[in-house]
Amino acid sequence: MSLLVRAGLLVTGTGQEIESGWLLAKDGMIVELGSGAAPRADETVDARSCVAVPGLVNAHDHFYQWATRGYVPDGTLFEWLRALYPVWARIDAETVRVAARAAMARLLLCGCTLSTDHHYVFPHDRPGIFQALVESAQELGLRFHPCRGSMSLGESDGGLPPDSVVEKAEAILTHTEAMINRYHDPKPGSMCRVVVAPCSPFSVTPRLMRESAELARKHGVRLHTHVAETLDEERFCLEKFGQRPVELMEHLGWSGDDVWYAHGIHLNDAEVSRVADAKTGVAHCPSSNMRLGAGACRVADLVRAGARVGLGVDGSASNEDANISVEAHQALLLARVRDRSPQAMDARGALRLATSGGAACLGRDDCGTLEPGKCADVACFRIDDLAHAGMQDPVAGLVLAPPARAHHVIVNGRLAVREGRLLTADEDQIAREIAATSARLAG
Ligand SMILES: [Zn+2]
Repeated sequence: MSLLVRAGLLVTGTGQEIESGWLLAKDGMIVELGSGAAPRADETVDARSCVAVPGLVNAHDHFYQWATRGYVPDGTLFEWLRALYPVWARIDAETVRVAARAAMARLLLCGCTLSTDHHYVFPHDRPGIFQALVESAQELGLRFHPCRGSMSLGESDGGLPPDSVVEKAEAILTHTEAMINRYHDPKPGSMCRVVVAPCSPFSVTPRLMRESAELARKHGVRLHTHVAETLDEERFCLEKFGQRPVELMEHLGWSGDDVWYAHGIHLNDAEVSRVADAKTGVAHCPSSNMRLGAGACRVADLVRAGARVGLGVDGSASNEDANISVEAHQALLLARVRDRSPQAMDARGALRLATSGGAACLGRDDCGTLEPGKCADVACFRIDDLAHAGMQDPVAGLVLAPPARAHHVIVNGRLAVREGRLLTADEDQIAREIAATSARLAG
């Protein structure tokens, strides 16, 4: 099965921007790029009114939160979490399936082709939640890195979440290993890789953090968790463990090129260097960070230090959307505000975070750029619409005026979105289902 994409401008992510460019994919992989006369293929995608870029990568999310959007609109992270934990305690596999389909549909429609999902709420006696996530990604055609998250430090032990949503460490590790054995595919071009991901230093015991790292390394899978998101978290770690969040994580074995953190906002100079030197990744989530007033990540400093930095939409309960182009836009603006300089980040730098930066966080050297031998994941955005027509620099335009939707989206050499319409599911039906599920969950 071969597929040809003809683009107005083909942006490879390796420094090339090819006018009237084309890309040929076979069996899910890119085999050739060029310009002008194009080879024949089984299927041709006409994106001559578009900029085609590497498929966008979402390096941090919580899909289930699509069912709880709009709660605590003005709270801090800890206020917002305390209000939402009891609502999340009511989720089951069906809730997660409906919410994940909504989140994935929105991600795909906005040009995302590879996403992680950090799922850490597993209420007792509600089987099938992790399976629902994996099956939803298979149905919608999204390249997927599901995280088996967890919480084990309940209120009675000094943690933040109520005891009703925490699990026993042994049960977490057993289930996580079972999910790795069942779903993890390490091969190049893989559509599913499992990640081990205890939730945060304030909802997991240090012992579980350490044992999770050991389990992940035994199986050669990646590690992900929330680190240094707020000053409340920093105070919690200093009071309870006598260490700053990054120090604590390093002490527990959570540093290295198989680890990526969500947020990494409150880092001092030494921590910026250590994170970069260790090749630990950071998923920057600007919309969520601004929505919760968490702070501004030192993205420009991290990038300058050589760190792997990607972008995440974060859960839609603290963002209310899942558009990686918007995150690139927010990342650029926030970096400039933070550093009081328009040099802090440019549009192509923001686009790199949204593509190859996210792929590096997720450990995907086969994704994030358009080159022969890489996965055929492509997002095409119109540049002849009202928002972008006449834009001096169309690539900068995608970041400065982020598109509301993508025009065509190709994942693994297959069209998932054609002319702005999802081909793998019924968008209107997903909207009806999420409305009903959200209402039911609200009680
Ligand atoms: Zn998060």
